[in-house]
Amino acid sequence: MQEIYKADPEIAEAIKLEQKRQRRNIELIASENFVSDAVKAAMGTILTNKYAEGYPTNRYYGGCEYVDIVENIARDRLKKIFNAEHANVQPHSGTNANIGVYFSVLDPGDLVMGMDLSHGGHLTHGSPVNISGKYYKFISYGVDKETGKIDYEKVRELALKNRPKLIIAGGSAYPRIIDFKIFNDIAKDSGSLLMVDMAHIAGLIAAGLHPSPIEYADFVTTTTHKTLRGPRGGAILCKEKYAKTVDKAIFPGTQGGPLMHVIAAKAICFKEAMEEDFFEYQKQVIKNSKALAGQLINEGFNLISGGTDNHLILIDLRNKNTTGKEVEHLLDQIGITVNKNTIPFDTQSPFVTSGIRVGTPAVTTRGLKEEDMKEIGKIISHIIDKPNDIHKTKERVKALSDKYVF
Ligand code: PLP
Repeated sequence: MQEIYKADPEIAEAIKLEQKRQRRNIELIASENFVSDAVKAAMGTILTNKYAEGYPTNRYYGGCEYVDIVENIARDRLKKIFNAEHANVQPHSGTNANIGVYFSVLDPGDLVMGMDLSHGGHLTHGSPVNISGKYYKFISYGVDKETGKIDYEKVRELALKNRPKLIIAGGSAYPRIIDFKIFNDIAKDSGSLLMVDMAHIAGLIAAGLHPSPIEYADFVTTTTHKTLRGPRGGAILCKEKYAKTVDKAIFPGTQGGPLMHVIAAKAICFKEAMEEDFFEYQKQVIKNSKALAGQLINEGFNLISGGTDNHLILIDLRNKNTTGKEVEHLLDQIGITVNKNTIPFDTQSPFVTSGIRVGTPAVTTRGLKEEDMKEIGKIISHIIDKPNDIHKTKERVKALSDKYVF
């Protein structure tokens, strides 16, 4: 920070403010986490100076012998964690990983089936405002209106009727275990390829706390910065038979030079994910999520699907006569950070929404336990019931935050 202050005080000041916000607030955004010092440090190294288009031992630039070591270690570790045949660690983001897979097996106009965004899918799974929805023809499946869970029979019906080239499983706001075996059976029956986007649950899968998609999917994409707790970035795992096409789809297909400093940080994150305390951490992520869900239910909240099996909870605010937009703002004012989120069959626009999504990866890294999650559930309920009680409720959040200085 001292170097940044010397060179650019304006930027240094903004970083400092963001650091204070991260330390002061209770971070409940389900897709965020706090990386280790080693992961952070790797991203600030001289590896950022190096161009390395291509892949280890097969680059378009000289002087790549040391970054080859880094990328090989990252690939090997990722393969080992998930027991995969091939890994590509170059995608700059989860979006790039997904686009890379599409580019590797689809032609423009091909039919693809993904989960509806408002039912818990992701923009890159066919939203009309995303390149996926513009270049390919997407049809969507969703959750059952009553249970809030994926209706596998409907997925099967839709797949058999339309026979998409690719089926996508996985999403951004689905709080339940996903049955990848059923998706595999469906894909086989409809003659489709199967891609699993495990961005949200990769850390849980790495720890063996969510069933792995590896044996069932042709392609598995992920981000590295959510439950996996690494740097911002993406990765692809696939069967060996797709290795060459996937690699070509990332470079030269959709990206240029890899971010070697980020790949080094990914490698460190993968090493951390193989350590015993990572497993304990992921167990606590789920315990915390269940404790928060239980408290929210006690406070009269409706949760989509009635609860959670993983790190996230989708809260339906309709019986509280408020919206996601209002609650996001209200919680911001007391120091709790969440994001508004559409809920299945939402009648509000994506800018307003009827829900909020909350998650426990970041607060669990910080050290919060079940009792703290119950207090958070009570605080959320209290401020929605008494939106004018900002000052006192903010003190309650501060007291909780002060217990876990970092
Ligand atoms: N896939 C899923 C399921 C996600 O939740 C996200 C991000 O939220 C992405 C892909 C995209 O990741 P990124 O923001 O790194 O592009």
